[in-house]
Amino acid sequence: MVMKANIPMRYLLAIPALCAVLLASGCVSMRPSQAKQWFRGNTHAHTIRSDGDSAPEVVAKWYHDHNYNFLVITDHNKFVDPREIKLPDEKRDDFLLIPGEEITGSKAIHTTAMNITNVASWKFDHTERSEIIQYHVDQAMAAGGQAVLNHPNFKYAASAEDILPVRHLSMFELFNGHPSVHNHGDSKHPSTEAMWDHLLTEGMKIFAVSSDDTHHLKTIAANKANPGRGWVMVHAASLDPDAITRAMLQGDFYASNGVFLKTCERGPRTYLIEVDAQKTRGELTSLPALRGKPVENGSEGFRIEFIGPAGKVLDTIKGEEGRFQIDGSIPYVRAKATFTRAHPDTGTLEEYYAWGQPVFTDASVATKALPGNSDRSGPLAGRSVSLLSH
Ligand SMILES: [Zn+2]
Ligand SMILES: [Zn+2]
Repeated sequence: MVMKANIPMRYLLAIPALCAVLLASGCVSMRPSQAKQWFRGNTHAHTIRSDGDSAPEVVAKWYHDHNYNFLVITDHNKFVDPREIKLPDEKRDDFLLIPGEEITGSKAIHTTAMNITNVASWKFDHTERSEIIQYHVDQAMAAGGQAVLNHPNFKYAASAEDILPVRHLSMFELFNGHPSVHNHGDSKHPSTEAMWDHLLTEGMKIFAVSSDDTHHLKTIAANKANPGRGWVMVHAASLDPDAITRAMLQGDFYASNGVFLKTCERGPRTYLIEVDAQKTRGELTSLPALRGKPVENGSEGFRIEFIGPAGKVLDTIKGEEGRFQIDGSIPYVRAKATFTRAHPDTGTLEEYYAWGQPVFTDASVATKALPGNSDRSGPLAGRSVSLLSH
């Protein structure tokens, strides 16, 4: 059972009841409960300790002042200890720095090591890119943390085929706010979202993260890597580094580059999404530098899609709320909320998104004997999957 294999024992011991749910269904309920809250966070930001333009204190303050709940500072091949960073005197109680690093390795492969206790090594090269990613994942875990494979389309460094053999990799960046990372792919390369469906269809249980990859606070422009463009909303029992990391490993979060959700209830039999239209519009108004994905056609407003294997859209609902009854014969279902608008400055039609994590059904568990994210002995093994663009 892959989810079990990806979660360190210290987490499993802390959550025996949840572990039982995982083993039984292969997915995690995301129903709101009094015990859990939603926390907004950015998992990827740089400071002057590597190639960012601002001090760690300034970067942390930006996120604090914009009502984030957590920030992972991820300087290139450097461990910045949060205990050394002075936070604002009037700091909110619900703001947290989680220790991290961007393992910046050979062949332009970069990986966030999240919730680490010491620097993770990046000194490794190999002809096989999957081996480099594996090294990053192993080093992140050896440093006490977890890995998020970053911006796979940066220099088109990591394809789905490179990612598939990697063990213990549970997260990757579907969206990264840096202007040079090609989230949407090009004529020769699939988008990161199409890559995600490829991985999921092949049986990999991997969740999608959205992050800023902040470098620039001093100049706000489309060609700068500014804060606020990509974030995650994590449903966790408490705001501490282990609880946030554990929740993300279980898929208890959604990724966003502009859309907030009021409700995100994730399986096992029903997937329910409700958009927070007011908060979404407010965010896009307060951060005018944000740019969505340009689109040729569409009407302004919200729509919700439920998406299955090979990126097939199983249902589309125009409006702010969508519910999907999960058919156990489909290996996975994920949700996507889209807000289409004409940009107030340019008039260009553009889209913003929230991406709900997949629910894996019994069909996924039963048809694929997956002791880790490495053994693809199921019926989909080796089958080519059409990559749909989103
Ligand atoms: Zn990077
Ligand atoms: Zn980075």
